[in-house]
Amino acid sequence: MIKKKLDSDSSPGRRTFLRNILLGTFSASLASASLLSGGKEQSDQLKKGSMNYRRLGRTNLMISEISLGGSPVPEMPILHQAFERGVNYIDSSHSYMNGNSERQIGQLLKEAGRENVHVGTKFHLRRNWSEKSIISSVEGSLGRLNTDYMDVLLIHGVEDETLLDDERVLSAFEKLKAQGKYRFRGLSCHANHHKIVKKAVECGFYDMIQLGYNVFDIQESEKDIETYDDYLGACGIRHLIALAKSKDVGIIAMKTLKIGGRRQNLEKYKTGTTTLYQAMLKWVLENRDISSAVIEMLSFEEMEEDLGVIGKSLSERERQNLFRFVVENSTDYCHMCGLCQKNCPSRIETTSILRYLAYHEGYAKTRLAKESYSRLKSGHTATACQNCGECEKICPYGVPVREKIREAHLLLS
Ligand code: SF4
Ligand code: SF4
Repeated sequence: MIKKKLDSDSSPGRRTFLRNILLGTFSASLASASLLSGGKEQSDQLKKGSMNYRRLGRTNLMISEISLGGSPVPEMPILHQAFERGVNYIDSSHSYMNGNSERQIGQLLKEAGRENVHVGTKFHLRRNWSEKSIISSVEGSLGRLNTDYMDVLLIHGVEDETLLDDERVLSAFEKLKAQGKYRFRGLSCHANHHKIVKKAVECGFYDMIQLGYNVFDIQESEKDIETYDDYLGACGIRHLIALAKSKDVGIIAMKTLKIGGRRQNLEKYKTGTTTLYQAMLKWVLENRDISSAVIEMLSFEEMEEDLGVIGKSLSERERQNLFRFVVENSTDYCHMCGLCQKNCPSRIETTSILRYLAYHEGYAKTRLAKESYSRLKSGHTATACQNCGECEKICPYGVPVREKIREAHLLLS
């Protein structure tokens, strides 16, 4: 939905909106925040113990509002406790922790009972992939998970929409389905969301989508934003999520705790005992078109922090602190729209590089970041930059792309 560049410094609508955030003068319209919960159908929700569950679109799986990310998966005692506290969906991939993520989840499936845990795992379409490589990857995952089937089988990180109806992909999915090796199919998407989500929804083949969604998406706008209602209508990712909902395609939100994972000192954005991350999670879960927020919980403390938001709504003060954080950090967050990469004359994979930098800086996944960076085609890294500045001219959010890709090269090569 990004049709034109927004000048983050001069757009009157955005400037007014941001000023209102800082002044707290949009509070009168906050009552409409409850509209985000509008349209909910009773049958789409369920409360059991201290956990809330939401229906994952047409899969009809009732999954916990907070689900567990498997990259990395926590140690077994934490995994068990998350399950005991009601977390019943775990996200993984053949590639996470060199397969150990799936192995540990397999252990949980054995101990907790296969039918009590829903697992989504993924295969890649990397260089030289084929129908055969997809099937082999899925069989490897099933072996590590120690199960006959996975609940959701996803394509990992689709960035090219033509892959969604590629005959080899469709055929692999159909063959695996005929063998009962998965129940539902989906995809995860890190970039090029607008094309990928639309095609995935409209082709009717996919039951769910996992995509990045966090409070920084309030920045995405094509029109003047003055009120809270305005920005709800203007958020492009939100439109995509609503489109999925309209076709009963389930949505799981990932990358919900931007920026900085949990590594930054964000005390100043706390509201009473509510941490910034809790406010971020509450903001994501306000959107009832989302079934769950997938999040890593690597310690008992992190689990307490994350599960502590269940059943709690975002207060006005929390919302103001949250938006203050967005305003003060807006140019640090790359929305993965892909515009800079598409317009780079040197064909540098800027969007991917910024994602790898976020792995390192935000999530302390330095190994993954370095491995991913090393897989970039030679000549497509920061070293090929001609310093033309086109990337920064086109970026709707004012991200200092050149500085960031240089930093990424120093840190990751
Ligand atoms: S400044 Fe560098 S990265 Fe940006 S568009 Fe130009 S060549 Fe590409
Ligand atoms: S740096 Fe800007 S233009 Fe490039 S992908 Fe991120 S948000 Fe889009």
